[in-house]
Amino acid sequence: MKKSLGIDIGGTKILYGLINEKGDVVSEVKKTATPKTAEEIYSTLKNIIDEYYTEIDAVGLSSAGAVNLENTRVLSSTPNLPDGYNKIDFSTLCDKKVYVENDANCACAAEYKNGAAKGFNTVLMITIGTGIGGGVISNGKLFKGAGGNALEVGSMKIFADKRQKCTCGRYDCWESYASGTGLKNCARTGALDYPEFKTSIYKDKHPDEITTYDITDGINQNDAYSIKVFEQWMEYMFVGLVSLTDIFNPDCIVISGGMCNFIDVEKLETKINAESVVTSVKVKRASTGNNAGMIGAGVLALE
Ligand SMILES: [Zn+2]
Repeated sequence: MKKSLGIDIGGTKILYGLINEKGDVVSEVKKTATPKTAEEIYSTLKNIIDEYYTEIDAVGLSSAGAVNLENTRVLSSTPNLPDGYNKIDFSTLCDKKVYVENDANCACAAEYKNGAAKGFNTVLMITIGTGIGGGVISNGKLFKGAGGNALEVGSMKIFADKRQKCTCGRYDCWESYASGTGLKNCARTGALDYPEFKTSIYKDKHPDEITTYDITDGINQNDAYSIKVFEQWMEYMFVGLVSLTDIFNPDCIVISGGMCNFIDVEKLETKINAESVVTSVKVKRASTGNNAGMIGAGVLALE
């Protein structure tokens, strides 16, 4: 069976290991700190590849940012990676195939090949962390869009009347309501709007100072305000997912990222199926965890 070297280039660390065609990790997973300059990142990647060169058929790289259609470069500037990073031509790293893909797309491929969505045909993957990322695989193929930037779902607008400014500078992006940042925004709005705030455990806090963690902790303490904030946040999550279900007709939606453990996926699945106009969909929590980018990049490189 063919093997690739899967490498996940994160803002703080680079994770790597050998991946087979089935998406199994077949070596020890190693990690190293992400260097501070683009030149050092390039030489670090070269050294990692040299270490495994004789054992591999291809190299797969998972990276933040939009990737070109040739899968050789990251086009956009990525806030957590140094200047010059988007000038790197990754195909020059070695004479075997080198394939770079966006991290959300890699995670989607990992879940499709060897994770929660194994055996499904059309998979929508949504990653909910500080922002919201997305990927779609249909009949084994990633949906890329004309420029390789498809599924920028976090930037999808959910209101037309400029209610809330997003960190990107525009208004009412889905991720400013339904991400981790979105939960914080819901907490602030809720503190001003909900009568439950007056008797909440957070009543003495300034609305701007209530954190995502306060709300999840408040739910555990049965705080009525925190519960109401979270329900509103789930409603925002839900409206976005119903629209995406109607657009892509997935048979499986996989939810991942820091916020996914707080979501009741069974309840979400029932609600989406009740509201969506397309055939039924399964909603699952991601199962490939921190290795998602590395596994996805590895399997995509072998295709
Ligand atoms: Zn935005």
